[in-house]
Amino acid sequence: MGETERITTDLDDHIPVALEVSNLRKTYADLVAVDGISFTVRRGEIFGLLGPNGAGKTTTLECLEGLRRADAGRLDVLGVDPTNDPSRLNKLIGVQLQASGLPSTMSCADAMRFFCSYHGVEPRWDLLEAFGLLEHEANRYDELSTGLQRRLALTLAIAHEPQVLILDEPTAGLDVASRTELHRVVRELSDQGTTVLLATHDMAEAERMTDRVAIMLRGQIVATGSPRDLTATADGLTKVSVRSERNTLFDDLDLPAVVQHSASDGYAVVFTADIAATVTSIIDALDAAGDPLIDLRVERPSLEERFLELTSVP
Ligand code: ATP
Repeated sequence: MGETERITTDLDDHIPVALEVSNLRKTYADLVAVDGISFTVRRGEIFGLLGPNGAGKTTTLECLEGLRRADAGRLDVLGVDPTNDPSRLNKLIGVQLQASGLPSTMSCADAMRFFCSYHGVEPRWDLLEAFGLLEHEANRYDELSTGLQRRLALTLAIAHEPQVLILDEPTAGLDVASRTELHRVVRELSDQGTTVLLATHDMAEAERMTDRVAIMLRGQIVATGSPRDLTATADGLTKVSVRSERNTLFDDLDLPAVVQHSASDGYAVVFTADIAATVTSIIDALDAAGDPLIDLRVERPSLEERFLELTSVP
């Protein structure tokens, strides 16, 4: 692994580019954290950086946020170079960091006042209310649960209505309801034209939330594309499970393109490289045996399976 496996061409060329990363390289002493990566994010897109611990996701985000200076490469955030023009950059981007830099004694309300005054906008009490934080407005940051702290961090990141929102592990530590609410808010912002770049370990989240992802491994991008494209191009096989009245498929199965065959919980289970040929022949075989079909399930490989395939060390 090491070279970009596949760059899909599903970018809509009519939509302007919001973020451009070209040959970004960042080292910490001898360690190459980001090794010459390139990707483009279009306006209104939700783009995910996926990768195992230490892949270089946070370093990439921090370079785009102007918090770290790249060793080489070119970065462009809506026409602004993040390292050279921090004040213009700060108007354009909103950042939810992995760990908020808020003082532990600061209250929710004061944090909102502070951030909004920094950006020159009125405090967004409506956002505190939308995220269930209004009832905690007098609470100190260190009195909030992890989930509430992360909700506050997101609220502060979007309070000045940035054109680009950068989220690092946005739903880490959130319960299911807060996670769903955050997904809804991020999708709504994207629908309104906000560009979202997020780093996550959560494959289900990436599959549900993002328009495209780049999978990073040891500082390099090993695959880029929509979750659907990435899973469709997997070497992994598709699982087909069949249940019929007399289970004739359990006996002597000779189907095209089937690589493995087993039985599980009353289902004949096959893994196939050609879904259409296999499903057609299953139906034909059951028909010929006079064995009525009860259930047939086709399961595509998940992004998680694809991710493991791409990032597993040989
Ligand atoms: P995680 O998912 O664990 O947050 P990541 O993909 O975000 O990981 P980075 O945090 O960018 O990865 O780290 C990339 C590599 O750079 C790792 O090996 C990490 O240990 C190293 N690294 C990150 N920050 C520093 C630093 N300030 N000084 C030295 N090495 C660092």
